[in-house]
Amino acid sequence: AKAAGRNTHYFFTDDLDKEVQESLIIETELREAIKEQQFVLYYQPQVNLADGELFGFEALIRWNHPTKGMVSPAVFIPVAEQSGLIVALGEWVIDEASHFIARLNKEFNKNYTVAVNLSARQFKDKNIVSIIKDSITKARINSHWLDIEITESMLMGDINEALKQLDEIKSLGVQMSIDDFGTGYSSLSYLKKFPVDTLKVDRAFIRDIPDDKDDMAISDAIIAMAHKLNMQVIAEGVETAEHVEFLVRNNCQIGQGYLFSQPLPEAELFSFIKTEKIY
Ligand code: C2E
Ligand code: CA
Ligand code: CA
Ligand code: CA
Repeated sequence: AKAAGRNTHYFFTDDLDKEVQESLIIETELREAIKEQQFVLYYQPQVNLADGELFGFEALIRWNHPTKGMVSPAVFIPVAEQSGLIVALGEWVIDEASHFIARLNKEFNKNYTVAVNLSARQFKDKNIVSIIKDSITKARINSHWLDIEITESMLMGDINEALKQLDEIKSLGVQMSIDDFGTGYSSLSYLKKFPVDTLKVDRAFIRDIPDDKDDMAISDAIIAMAHKLNMQVIAEGVETAEHVEFLVRNNCQIGQGYLFSQPLPEAELFSFIKTEKIY
C-alpha cells in the first residue's frame, strides 16, 4: 500500500509539472499572440424561438495559432486569467466586438445585440468601465447594442462590491446577462438587486431535454423566475427540435445553439444572415 501511495504521489507531481509547464508555454505564446494579433472573434446567432427571427449574437474568441490552428478558448482563457493577460486580451475583445457591432447594424440596418464574455479578473478591474465606454465611443455604437456577460461566481464574495461594479457598468447603458445560470450558486435573494437584463440557462440543463425530467423542472423554474424578475431568458446549447418545442411551451423567448448555427467568422456570419432561413 505504501509503494502504491508513493507511486501515486510521483504520478501526481509528474502530471502537475506537465500541467505547469504546459501553461507556462501557453502563457509565453499568448504574450506573443497578443502582439502578433493572432486572435479572431466568432459570432453565434441567438434566435427568437417564437418566430425564428434573429435576436442577436454572442462573440466567442478563437486563437489562430501559427502551428496549432484554431485553439479553443477553453484551453487559453484559464491561462490568460491566471497570468493576468486576460485584461489586455479582454480589452481587445470589447473593442473588436464594438467595431463589429457598428459594421453589423449598418450592413443590415438593424438593432442587433452582441454579447461579450467578461472574465472575473476583468470584472474586478477598476478600469473596466472606462474600457467599455471608450470602445462604445470609438466604434460610435448605441451602448444598448452591447451586452456584457458575467457569470454567477463573479457575484459571490463581496456582494456590495459586485453590485457597485455592476451598477457602474450598467450606467453606460449596456445590457447585462448572467451566463451559465444555474451552475454557480448565487444567492437567489440577491438576484433581484442586480441590474441584469438576461439570464442564460446553462447548456447542462437543456442537453438532456426531454429525457431528463429533473432538468426540465429546473429549466422551467429558471425561466419562470426570470420572468417574474422581469428578465429575459436565453437557452444555451439548443441542439434539437425537441429543445425548441420544450422552450417555446415554457415561454423561453430566445435560443442559442448548434441547431441554428455554430459560431461563425464575420464574413460567413454575414452570408448566413443574408441567406439562411433560420428554421
Ligand atoms: P460560454 O460563454 O458558455 O459560451 C458558449 C460555448 O458553448 C461556446 O464554446 C459555444 O461554441 C458552445 N456552444 C454553443 N452552442 C452549442 C451547442 O448547441 N452545443 C454545444 N455542445 N456547445 C455549444 P466556445 O466558443 O468554445 O467557448 C467556451 C468558453 O470560453 C465560453 O463559454 C466562455 O466561457 C469562454 N470564452 C469564449 N470567448 C471568450 C471571451 O472573449 N472572453 C472570455 N473571458 N471568455 C470567453
Ligand atoms: Ca457566454
Ligand atoms: Ca454560457
Ligand atoms: Ca460555459
